[in-house]
Amino acid sequence: MSVALFTLGGTISMAGAAEGGGASGVVSRLTGGDLTAAVPGLADLGVPLDVRDVQAVPSSNLTFPQMLDLVEAASRAVADGAVGVVVTQGTDTLEETAFLVDLIWRHPEPFVLTGAMRNPTLAGPDGPANLLAAAQIAASPPARGLGALVAFNDEIHAARWVRKTHSTSTATFASPNLGPIGQVIEGQVRILVRPPRPEPLPNRNGTALLGGTALLDATALLDVARVGLYTVVLDDDGVLLDGLDRTHQGLVVAGFGVGHVPSALAPVLGSLADRIPVVLTSRTGAGSVLRKTYSAVGSESDLQRRGLINGGLLDPYKARILLRLLLAAGADRDDIAAAFARHG
Ligand code: ASP
Repeated sequence: MSVALFTLGGTISMAGAAEGGGASGVVSRLTGGDLTAAVPGLADLGVPLDVRDVQAVPSSNLTFPQMLDLVEAASRAVADGAVGVVVTQGTDTLEETAFLVDLIWRHPEPFVLTGAMRNPTLAGPDGPANLLAAAQIAASPPARGLGALVAFNDEIHAARWVRKTHSTSTATFASPNLGPIGQVIEGQVRILVRPPRPEPLPNRNGTALLGGTALLDATALLDVARVGLYTVVLDDDGVLLDGLDRTHQGLVVAGFGVGHVPSALAPVLGSLADRIPVVLTSRTGAGSVLRKTYSAVGSESDLQRRGLINGGLLDPYKARILLRLLLAAGADRDDIAAAFARHG
């Protein structure tokens, strides 16, 4: 029995650049061993940490194939007896990687992602506390069955709902539509609410993606499932979207408010939706796009009539993760609409 710890880099593992490197500033260079050595209280966890250093990169460099490989490795660790999984990584893309994992994690064992906002060279780095909380959650029976979780600032967030909401605050992770689903209090994991979690994604043959990760190999993901994200802005003429369907297999639109765009953009999006799946989300950061309230050209009902798929409560970043996985798994338009109805 152990908790499997995978390290990917990020601020939590950053330290001054190597001697003679000439650069100021920090880079990812601490190992999992360095990280765990800096955490008082880990010895009281009750189970050992099985540390695997996978990468040491800023999270802006992480890719879908790398995350799928990580899920496969974590899945093997669980099959070998790990009671839970912890991943340390940069916070910049954590809301996306956590949701990617959540969509395909089929095990009851907790899969907990964490990181830090203040690097270890600063006063009051938050990495050690976050890592300790993540390990406590990963080892905690009440956290089983909740999919992928984010541990930060002694709060527990469901991957489906969590957002990075501040560029520097240690309280950056929040779940605007839901709030944290639990807290770590004096080392005790308290789950306060268990939000519903749709079944993980099936692939084209109805087999689990995970375990069949080979079906989702890197080439398939990159070449067959390139998904763009387009944020609609004031007086938007849509020229940036010209020819998008020649380079992309799907598009997520972050529209105004409840899912609106300028009327001039509506036919542009409608014609794209004739050729590739286009998912409608809101750029506001919380709340759902609507389905049947407004009817002007460019409104949510007009865009749905033109073939856009309603993203529901999924924010644009998470909608893009879901659409890319679905396309990579060979989903057709009906499958995609059904998946967004379930997850959105
Ligand atoms: N730029 C860093 C990263 O995402 C930020 C962090 O780790 O908090 O890797």
